[in-house]
Amino acid sequence: MNKGDYSKYTKRSIRSLQPYQAKEMPCKVKLDANESPYRPLEETMDKLSGIPLNRYPDPGAKELRKTIARDLKIAPDEILMGNGSDELIYYLIIAFGGPVLFPVPTFSMYGIISRALGEEHIGIPLDKDFDIDTGKMLAAVKKHKPKLVFLSSPNNPTGNCFSSDRILKIVEQAKGIVVVDEAYQPFSSDKGFVPLLKDYPNMAVLRTLSKIGFAALRVGFLLGDKGLVREVNKVRLPFNLNALSQAAALEGLRDRRAIQSHVKAIASERGRMFRELDAMPGINPYPSEANFILFSTDNAHALYLKLIRSGILVRDMSGAIRNALRVTIGTPEQNNFFIEALKKATGRKK
Ligand SMILES: *Cc1c(COP(=O)(O)O)cnc(C)c1O
Repeated sequence: MNKGDYSKYTKRSIRSLQPYQAKEMPCKVKLDANESPYRPLEETMDKLSGIPLNRYPDPGAKELRKTIARDLKIAPDEILMGNGSDELIYYLIIAFGGPVLFPVPTFSMYGIISRALGEEHIGIPLDKDFDIDTGKMLAAVKKHKPKLVFLSSPNNPTGNCFSSDRILKIVEQAKGIVVVDEAYQPFSSDKGFVPLLKDYPNMAVLRTLSKIGFAALRVGFLLGDKGLVREVNKVRLPFNLNALSQAAALEGLRDRRAIQSHVKAIASERGRMFRELDAMPGINPYPSEANFILFSTDNAHALYLKLIRSGILVRDMSGAIRNALRVTIGTPEQNNFFIEALKKATGRKK
């Protein structure tokens, strides 16, 4: 493939679009964007944010992309910022269209957004270890010729990483774009696929700050060849990442060590939680590389309701996986509270 030319992937109706260019020109008097020259509650707002809230945000989130690029050892034009990675999934499906292929069970938004945009989507069951069923997936790739494949690794809600060689087999055989969604990569022992982007031009990686302490900011990013980023950028709304989120994310990323230490604490608690769950009769936890654990039990929905009565909310996944609940790893105190409530609910403790 001629690297750099990604327009063949793009839907015909999008192909000829140009990415929106907000003019950015240094000037003394800025009167081009219909902003207000006034700043209501200026002192309060400055104290809160120090940002001129009367002006539009940087449309290209340049500082943030520079910082992320440095961290990940890639170029800023290989990054596209989204209002959460959800928004980037939306943009990917708008730009490239369907059929959209993904293994199931997986993150629900791939299917929901495909439906919302009227694109065909195909879910292929994972194998019994929740890994990619290579035979079935490759057959679906051949049959449906998907424009997009989404692979969440670590996978939500199962928690495991897919085998790298199976992911790469799909990337090699797919004629469309394969997106590896690494929302939970920071919690994983796997290095992830960013270092391999150079070798696989039809692969892209999704990351997010949501699972590592900044869910409220809504900051996600797509990583891939600059030609691919350019195509998706054609459908991005110009000011999709607001100024407060850009500034807060920059500050947050500056303190890599704080993020790292929280991620480590969660990974270590995940180990402890797994052992606790595994030791409980009637509870079957699945190994996890993410910040949650999926477990199955006899009557998941009844247990879910009992936990609610103890003040604990977990996610009932029994719609997707028989009798399965998904619990997010909390602080040690929260996890103890959950374990005690679970012992009580399953009758292992008075
Ligand atoms: C949570 C999650 C997302 C969404 O992340 P946002 O950046 O908050 O939109 C994307 N993919 C997977 C697999 C997730 O679990």
